[in-house]
Amino acid sequence: MAELYYDDDADLSVIAGKKVAVIGYGSQGHAHALNLRDSGVDVTVGLREGSSSAAKATDEGLKVASVADAVAGADVVVILAPDQVQRSLYAEQIEPNLKADAALLFAHGFNIRFGYIKPAAGHDVIMVAPKGPGHLVRREYEAGRGVPVIVAVEQDASGHAWDLALSYAKAIGGLRAGGIRTTFTEETETDLFGEQAVLCGGTSQLVQYGFEVLTEAGYQPEVAYFEVLHELKLIVDLMWEGGIAKQRWSVSDTAEYGDYVSGPRVITPEVKENMKAVLADIQSGAFADRFITDQDAGAPEFKDLRGKGEQHPIESTGRELRKLFSWVEDRDSDYTEGSAA
Ligand code: NDP
Ligand code: MG
Ligand code: MG
Repeated sequence: MAELYYDDDADLSVIAGKKVAVIGYGSQGHAHALNLRDSGVDVTVGLREGSSSAAKATDEGLKVASVADAVAGADVVVILAPDQVQRSLYAEQIEPNLKADAALLFAHGFNIRFGYIKPAAGHDVIMVAPKGPGHLVRREYEAGRGVPVIVAVEQDASGHAWDLALSYAKAIGGLRAGGIRTTFTEETETDLFGEQAVLCGGTSQLVQYGFEVLTEAGYQPEVAYFEVLHELKLIVDLMWEGGIAKQRWSVSDTAEYGDYVSGPRVITPEVKENMKAVLADIQSGAFADRFITDQDAGAPEFKDLRGKGEQHPIESTGRELRKLFSWVEDRDSDYTEGSAA
């Protein structure tokens, strides 16, 4: 059984006694900075010259500085810029300004696990990774709740890295929901596998194939959209509430029987073998290398794949249909349809 932590296991005064620099003010950055501030922590947001995020942070009353200045004054530096920029950001602006005993904190283990960032021995290296998007991390905190976190220590230079990790996790609201102890390696490899094989990659491909099979057989795209995409949320909500068993309990006996007999025909044992190959590429660093090499070259492969994905007919069908859904609320996010970023 995993080791779990809650609010009573952490001492807020540890992080409240430190100066914290949050580098980046995007999805996670804004949520961490605001939750820390509201928990009584001294926070400065570090942003690059001409950053489009600076006004948002200033409007919230947060202190904003250059990355160099924020880092130089900090006891704890929280690196919440996108994973693919962290290596050069660290080498050029963080490391040269870092206090010798400052702690480094991440929300994902990618750059440490794959060796793109190699902190000197004097730094605590900590991860507090919320298991949810940043906008939810902020919204739940404001509602008096929290998003669960997983917590790890890669390097315990001070001898107190765990106290700091748990204190930070408490300050962003994560221990209201609960924290699970992990390692940078476990978090990074399972996170990448989950999003590639199941959550993002697996599900997107499954939905697209389902839509293609129905429309190629002559069914209306709007009807196909409802059956393979729109209703997915209802099914996933049931799984989330009570596991696959609750989903099977809630659907009709016809649907449940079809689940048993047709699920394994679609997702064959060969798919499991493919998943193992995906995991092997994650573990070996081959996926990380492909991603970072492409990013370093200006992301030609990434942009090409993104463009092709947006052209899939399910997207235009969905765009038109969703205009009719008065019951689908507008969610607070920076996403605008047709320009996935
Ligand atoms: P975002 O893409 O939302 O970060 C954007 C922020 O980073 C902006 O403030 C942007 O500033 C800044 N930024 C971008 N490039 C640079 C640069 N070169 N130098 C300085 N600042 C820069 O990141 P996420 O919040 O998605 O991810 C941050 C970390 O959290 C990652 O490690 C990720 O894996 C992890 N994580 C993310 C989750 C999520 O919900 N998205 C969930 C759990 C973990 P500007 O306005 O200047 O562009
Ligand atoms: Mg991830
Ligand atoms: Mg149906």
